[in-house]
Amino acid sequence: MNLNSGNYYGREASREYMSVSQFKAFSKCEFAALEEVNGNYSRAESTALLVGSYVDAYFEGTLDLFVAQHPEIRKRDGSLKADFVQAESIIERISSDPMFMDYMNGEKQVIFTGEIEEIPVKCKIDAFHAGRMIVDLKVMRDFKPIYVPGEGRLNFIEAWKYDLQGAVYQEIVFQNTGKRLPFFIAAATKEVSTDFGIFEVPQEVLDVQLDLFKADVRRYQFIKDGIIEPERCGHCEVCRQTKKLEKPTTWEELNAYEL
Ligand SMILES: [Zn+2]
Repeated sequence: MNLNSGNYYGREASREYMSVSQFKAFSKCEFAALEEVNGNYSRAESTALLVGSYVDAYFEGTLDLFVAQHPEIRKRDGSLKADFVQAESIIERISSDPMFMDYMNGEKQVIFTGEIEEIPVKCKIDAFHAGRMIVDLKVMRDFKPIYVPGEGRLNFIEAWKYDLQGAVYQEIVFQNTGKRLPFFIAAATKEVSTDFGIFEVPQEVLDVQLDLFKADVRRYQFIKDGIIEPERCGHCEVCRQTKKLEKPTTWEELNAYEL
């Protein structure tokens, strides 16, 4: 199928293509990810995600459409809810910074497809600067390191796996253009005074992440294709809904509960 902005997030596209977010869902819980691919479960659209989409839509020039499609961002009196008033102030702040805007000033929401380990993969780039760089826009709480169970203290790019996203985007763009472009995160925070920055993910980090993607993507594709059974994480929303006790939880399992 040919992807466009209308079908990119659709059911058919997620069956036919692996994406970074689908891969991340599989690495969290294979069972839940498969349920999602099969249309049996959809993740609730959190306010945090909506705020990110609001800012994305502004830079894409599609904010009017976004607002029309998301009446839930308004209060009864028609004014924006606090989170989106804040999104407006984030937009205003980063728009006033010439360097930030230089990085955002690429071609918006560009879709590419390619193959990694012979598996079709799709990606959509926030700001694509042909021949120069790939930029992805992120809005987050702050830039402090984040504790990730089993991995320790990670910077926000590692913690949210934006490095994995960069690795896959870079590879897919390389397959389409023959150029391996640097990957940048253009990020802004939801703090009272917005912090913002442009962060380059080092090539050696991208290389490691691409290898990690390659290591697991075949297994996830086999699960999508029904060749192997998905494993349950045992404690996500989908696993909780379909849980059936078989034995007591061991002390070690309890200590590893978040993993
Ligand atoms: Zn689960």
